[in-house]
Amino acid sequence: MFDDLSAQSGAAAGPAPGRLTIDLGAIRANFTQLQRIAGSPVGAVVKANAYGMGAGPVAIALLAEGCRDFFVAHLGEALSLRPLLPPEARLYVLNGLLPGGETPCAAANIIPVLNSLEQIDAWANTAKALGRTLPGVLQFDTGMSRLGIAPEDRAEAARRIGAANIELAFVMSHLASADEPNDAQNADQAAEMRRALAEFGAEKMCFANSGGIFLGADFRGVLARTGIALYGGATENGVKSPLLHAIGLEIAVIQTRRVEAGARIGYGGTHIATRPMRLATLAAGYADGLPRSLSDRGAVYCDGVRLPIVGRVSMDSMVVDISALPEGRLTLGSPVEMLGARQSMDDLARDAGTISYEILTGLGPRFSRLYI
Ligand SMILES: *Cc1c(COP(=O)(O)O)cnc(C)c1O
Repeated sequence: MFDDLSAQSGAAAGPAPGRLTIDLGAIRANFTQLQRIAGSPVGAVVKANAYGMGAGPVAIALLAEGCRDFFVAHLGEALSLRPLLPPEARLYVLNGLLPGGETPCAAANIIPVLNSLEQIDAWANTAKALGRTLPGVLQFDTGMSRLGIAPEDRAEAARRIGAANIELAFVMSHLASADEPNDAQNADQAAEMRRALAEFGAEKMCFANSGGIFLGADFRGVLARTGIALYGGATENGVKSPLLHAIGLEIAVIQTRRVEAGARIGYGGTHIATRPMRLATLAAGYADGLPRSLSDRGAVYCDGVRLPIVGRVSMDSMVVDISALPEGRLTLGSPVEMLGARQSMDDLARDAGTISYEILTGLGPRFSRLYI
């Protein structure tokens, strides 16, 4: 059935157990909409293989939409993506460089985020050794305590950057609570960012992530960075995204059966049928990124009908209650909707007790990928 491009082994994989549909048109429309809302250019965060959706196809689609700034987490991700992008597209490594990464980074025209004094020194030494100016981005820690120059190191960072042959494209920081617009941490981080800009004498800032784009002028800089919003993931906790849903996921039925009241379903027999039921076994499980926490909690859909997951999610399969569907509606190979018009990534994440980011990045290579 789902015999599109398989991320695992191409056509040799045979029919895939499920199909991810990635609507590049919707991603492009969301990008343009986000630039409008941000009031500045927006860069695409395509780390973790573009949240599992395919860094190459997503980046190339956004390039055609005018995107010129791309962010990944690791140098390795940047090195893979660089040949697909034209020279004028800028590619940044958010996590910064590990020792030894400087030479390949410079050689490939990739821009590191400098998160510490050591990283400034290493990049400065590379510039000196190469005898040329190297581009960089400096990150400040404005209160997340994850990455970036601490407030007490700002003066020293300014001194070392000033003495180095490094041209800063902009300074950046990252918001810890952008998905909670009323959290005081947002204003605290904005205030810390203002102090950092003043002390550092910097003007160009890159601050907002997807959620930050919706927080207003205090977070507006020369560039925003967006990941989850490109796919239609919510940018505010518990609030439906105003953007287009770009991701669909269908899973194939691999068996149907009827059970009597008292039947035990799945590992541990945790679900005991209280009535005669019709069941369908689906060809995906927690190894495909559908969390085990969906056991007896989540659902899939067919013809708009909710089909609850019954019993525990297995590694490669799960069982759903199809009693509400007409008999014979689902047979071997029939697709059911895991993500789509009836169920968003945020709905599924809520049932699984996680966030859309973790759902998307977890969706495994056994699904085929269809780009539309
Ligand atoms: C992942 C990441 C982003 C993108 O966040 P979204 O909420 O998906 O928009 C932006 N900036 C940094 C530093 C990140 O690590």
